[in-house]
Amino acid sequence: MRRLTGALAAAAALLAAAPATAQTRPDSDQPWREFQWLYGSAEGAATSRQAFNALRAFAVIQAERWRMGEPVVQRVLAPGATLDRPAFESCGDKKPAVVFDIDETLLLNTGAEYWAAAKQQSYEQSRAFDKDAWAKWEKDGAKLVDPVPGAVEAVDTLRKADIAVIFNSNRSAASMQETAEALAHAGLGVAEPGKTLFLDSAGDGKKDGRRATIAETWCVVAMAGDQLGDFSDLFNAKENGRLPVVKRRQAMGSPMLARMWGQGWFLLPNPVYGKGAEGDFNEIFPKNRWKPH
Ligand SMILES: [Mg+2]
Repeated sequence: MRRLTGALAAAAALLAAAPATAQTRPDSDQPWREFQWLYGSAEGAATSRQAFNALRAFAVIQAERWRMGEPVVQRVLAPGATLDRPAFESCGDKKPAVVFDIDETLLLNTGAEYWAAAKQQSYEQSRAFDKDAWAKWEKDGAKLVDPVPGAVEAVDTLRKADIAVIFNSNRSAASMQETAEALAHAGLGVAEPGKTLFLDSAGDGKKDGRRATIAETWCVVAMAGDQLGDFSDLFNAKENGRLPVVKRRQAMGSPMLARMWGQGWFLLPNPVYGKGAEGDFNEIFPKNRWKPH
């Protein structure tokens, strides 16, 4: 009883301290909550490890098949392929490689995300991309990153299996050296510009051109990223100036592409930023609208 009284008193104190105005969104004054799952939770870490464990097993088997002379295909979409008609070329004699996105795929940008969370902005502001801050972060943050859980083990496994580890990121090509330093700091080894490290020199945020270049040299047996643009720029095509959220979700699951997930394409979780955080209420809940009665 005494305990209950204490709990009631604590609840009353909390209520008294609460702001008088009703909140329209429970999270609107706590944008840092949006960062909790990815950067703070065991569940987020386990989901990343799940992806990397699957990738390791898949890539090693593919490389083994290639060495046995069995047919292996690129996991980069062939030139001219569409999401409706995906196609993948044969690898031929090219040696096996895995292509990784960097940010929130291999590196957790905890320093920069701390700042995004600590600014205590609104929900929308905390999700908006701060171009200037990010450009500074690319230059400053090499020692303030962590490896995504499971990333170091995955990269080590691949290299031991003689599978090349290639980095393809939309970080600016002007940050080549700092990006290589960040990867090294996180325990992900050496990244050589133009050989195993490819960054955005055009500033258009597109990766298909660099993917094609990589696939000219390597048999890309797997790709990993936290955004669908890490697999094909076709996923980022806009309609009437905005991302067609519902259609895009359907395209991801079309029969030909649905089988790629966990079978050559490996997605790392990112509920914090990017295309996955776009869309309005009606696009999230287009149907099945229940309410208690
Ligand atoms: Mg990324």
